[in-house]
Amino acid sequence: MPAPQPRPNVQRIPAYVPGKPPEVRPGTTAYKLSSNENPYPPLPGVVEAADAAARQMNRYPDMGATALYAALAGHLGVPADHLSLATGSVGLIYQVLNGWCEPGDEGVYAWRSFEAYPIAATAAAATSVQVPVLPDGRHDLDAMAAAITDRTKVVQVCTPNNPTGPAVTQTELDAFLAKVPPHVLVVVDEAYLEFVRMDDPVDGIATYAAHDNVVLFRTFSKAYGLAGFRVGYAVSNAPIAAALRAVSLPFGVSSVAQAAAIASLEAHDALLERVEALVVERARVYDGLRELGWDVPEPQGNFVWFGLGERTGDFAAAADAVALTVRPFAGEGVRVSIGEVEANDRLLALAADFPR
Ligand SMILES: *Cc1c(COP(=O)(O)O)cnc(C)c1O
Repeated sequence: MPAPQPRPNVQRIPAYVPGKPPEVRPGTTAYKLSSNENPYPPLPGVVEAADAAARQMNRYPDMGATALYAALAGHLGVPADHLSLATGSVGLIYQVLNGWCEPGDEGVYAWRSFEAYPIAATAAAATSVQVPVLPDGRHDLDAMAAAITDRTKVVQVCTPNNPTGPAVTQTELDAFLAKVPPHVLVVVDEAYLEFVRMDDPVDGIATYAAHDNVVLFRTFSKAYGLAGFRVGYAVSNAPIAAALRAVSLPFGVSSVAQAAAIASLEAHDALLERVEALVVERARVYDGLRELGWDVPEPQGNFVWFGLGERTGDFAAAADAVALTVRPFAGEGVRVSIGEVEANDRLLALAADFPR
């Protein structure tokens, strides 16, 4: 008797490689720099809000997420019906590919970029069209525009790009959008938006307001430090938002997560302070690496990229030996999150010892 079979694409879904937890080494504090997490504890008021919500765990969450939508709408200055919540922005990536692609339709994105893109595309039976990033880790937006065909439904622009680090400029994004046909949905994945410090940065809100085929993906996982709670949201015009809501998992964002997200938005000043401290650390690490002779791409997120090629495994092992857990991409490079000051010092010491 034949066994029940999932769709053939299910067998081709690549495995997500999560950042490893740190190894315990007696006498040394181990640091996990492998998942771009925020090293700070929850923002003031967040634990209390989550605790209060947890006491109601016998109840379903507010399916309409009314309070969180209202808080976000106020915070961003957009109508609430331009927003759609999800279980992290990874949830949104799945929803957009499932909602927009018929089997065999194409999703275009840069590569190497966020590893959830090929996973979600394959899960949706869509075809991934991967456009190599430039040698300095930036998106090749001209090549991405040229890769669009009649079958393209979605293009994902990851800015800043995980794992290489650089962000696109508004001028570059505008020139790209001018070339994209209006029926193609352009996702601007702004997971690291809060960390961007550059000339001519992307203004996502102005961009989506000017383009009916643009959707922004944002998350509470990185700057806001709620990675464990799974809250992300999209910003787009109302029809796109309605479609994203329609394909979302009912009750996906838990009541505890909703409460924590609202409290995090209220702690905006504390958030800005922490993000600024991480940006200062990022600059210290980047400058330090360049002084040591490392040619790393300009980091605009909370991580740096070492394009080590074949020596990727050696670097990851050397990091392990000093109780730093980093994220190797075999044969390509190593991504290291900006962490606690001591963790960053240890990374610089490692980079000084490791042959360039
Ligand atoms: C971390 C990350 C996300 C979001 O993750 P969630 O925790 O699911 O919100 C989205 N895009 C990129 C590029 C990321 O690095």
